[in-house]
Amino acid sequence: MKHIVIVVDFDGTLTNRYVNLNGKNVEVPALIAVLRENFDILGSEYATEAHKLYNYYRPIEKDPNISEWEKAAKMEEWRRKHYLLLKEAGLTYDMLKKVAHDSRVVLRRWTKEFLDFAKQNGIPVVIFSSSWVGTAAIRMVLERYGIRLEDYPNLKIVSNVLRFDKRGYFVGADEPIIYGGDKSLNNLRQKLPEIDKILKDAKALVVIGDNLGDRKMAEGFNGEVLGICFAANEMRQDCAKAFEVILSQEDGNFEDVIKIIKDKLKELLDKS
Ligand SMILES: [Mg+2]
Repeated sequence: MKHIVIVVDFDGTLTNRYVNLNGKNVEVPALIAVLRENFDILGSEYATEAHKLYNYYRPIEKDPNISEWEKAAKMEEWRRKHYLLLKEAGLTYDMLKKVAHDSRVVLRRWTKEFLDFAKQNGIPVVIFSSSWVGTAAIRMVLERYGIRLEDYPNLKIVSNVLRFDKRGYFVGADEPIIYGGDKSLNNLRQKLPEIDKILKDAKALVVIGDNLGDRKMAEGFNGEVLGICFAANEMRQDCAKAFEVILSQEDGNFEDVIKIIKDKLKELLDKS
């Protein structure tokens, strides 16, 4: 009997938002920002152009006065321009490896144990990420921690899929392109049609994220929803309105998540 399905965000959720480097607490950029900030990977010309796009589109993304619809169109435009830029700059598959191995990209404590726990209990887990560098880079980060997809039949990664030619050069991303404000169950379905089969008969859907938009991953699910958010201090109040459980962005980890899900599982079993 299937009781719980988990949908979890990647950047800032499975990965730490802060890491200690040389005694300093530094904020970890999303995977794409690692690419944008590290001139050694794609060169300074790419970085300059990428920053120009960032400086124009990022304020639009954050502006609460712009309608969802208008924002969606702009965010899509941003992605397309950026993907074109990555293609022109000569992004290769090997460069993604450098991004995935950046020392600032660190999984939250207990992530592997969490995935092991889900596997042992037959709980499906979908990593749903709007990451620009997509499934391949996410898989590479997980592999650094000994998490190999082939060992986790219950685990799926849904994100942007980047295509490379035979020589390893980036040629474009699969449609539809996912962006951050766009993470509804409906959009997940477009990338993973079997989600309906996965969710069928599930009593509860657990969504885990690090910002408000991640709660949308449960939109359209008819059963019970348990939202868990690794919220930054300044977002805590807002997130508490949308999510059922708030954990610390800075040092929250998946040991807490395992406990919460164990309790939920017990509650559902007692009821049935
Ligand atoms: Mg995130």
